Amino acid sequence: MDAVATPPLIDPFMRAITYLRVSVTDRCDFRCVYCMAEHMTFLPKRDLLTLEELDRLCSTFVRLGVRKLRITGGEPLVRKNIMWFFERMGRHLGQGLDELTLTTNGSQLARFAGQLRDCGVRRVNVSLDTLDEDRFKAITRWGRLADVLHGIDAAQAAGLAVKINTVALKGTNDTEAHRLVEWCGERGMDLTFIEVMPMGELDGEDRLDQFWSLGDVRRELETRWTLTDTDYRTGGPARYVRVAETGQRIGFITPLTHNFCESCNRVRLTCTGQLYMCLGQDDDADLRAVLRASEDDALLETAIREAITRKPRGHDFDYSRQKVEGQVARHMSVTGG
Ligand code: SAM
Repeated sequence: MDAVATPPLIDPFMRAITYLRVSVTDRCDFRCVYCMAEHMTFLPKRDLLTLEELDRLCSTFVRLGVRKLRITGGEPLVRKNIMWFFERMGRHLGQGLDELTLTTNGSQLARFAGQLRDCGVRRVNVSLDTLDEDRFKAITRWGRLADVLHGIDAAQAAGLAVKINTVALKGTNDTEAHRLVEWCGERGMDLTFIEVMPMGELDGEDRLDQFWSLGDVRRELETRWTLTDTDYRTGGPARYVRVAETGQRIGFITPLTHNFCESCNRVRLTCTGQLYMCLGQDDDADLRAVLRASEDDALLETAIREAITRKPRGHDFDYSRQKVEGQVARHMSVTGG
């Protein structure tokens, strides 16, 4: 069937689904305190989709109208042979796919930046919550700041645009917001702040204690920087402002304080082939079973279309009554942040 004849994926709220986020592994070389417990039990290898299966699934989504593919995890760059998969996805660019990108902790970027660029990747999101070495260790438990900074250097040297993603954490990185804006400005990088979401149980961490609303972050930034609203969009949920003093943008992703579900265009595939129609709801569709039941992609297409008819209006995350509501049991590393 050619692309023109294939009806697009439209959910019950008339939102076109054009963005697929794919977690290629649940494993990570960091153990960020708000994301994972220190001792996680990871999935046995047989449960994971093979890279060939991921290729088949993602290619089907592209045929059904997905135009943006974000590879994530866990840490996507720790999956063995992952460059083979990037190469496979790269062949869809200009053939239905507009953008192939990834979200990474940056630890392996020094090794892979050039190859990513060769596969057609032009932008990467690097998650980085602090520029302070000790704090970095405290947040990531296992990470080394120097590795991430080398990774960012390598990505920029390879010609990749880097955007920094920072989870706003009260009592942890709230003293660094200005420094992060300044540093990103010096390096020509945009910066996005994210509100911490109630996903997965953590060892002794309290979401409400960690929560720093982005309204407060913005007010703090405005004490030093001139911020102007823009209508710039990258296909994701961030709302951007321009910083007059640096020329760079700052994005705000506010799942808690401003729900942006009405414009949601995305679904998420886990490394075991479960399709989550919403980050903050539990309903999923088992695409691995369909994939393994038949070599015929027609069944897969039907299963994907059926899943999209179940996409909910939005998530129910809520801290407003001084308790955590709408929590989902999965860690972010499962659904792919
Ligand atoms: N390992 C990659 C990385 O570090 O970017 C990709 C996966 S990670 C789960 C993706 C993003 O989710 C990171 O920016 C991380 O900070 C964010 N994240 C994880 N748990 C979160 C939570 N509970 N609330 C908000 N963001 C979270």
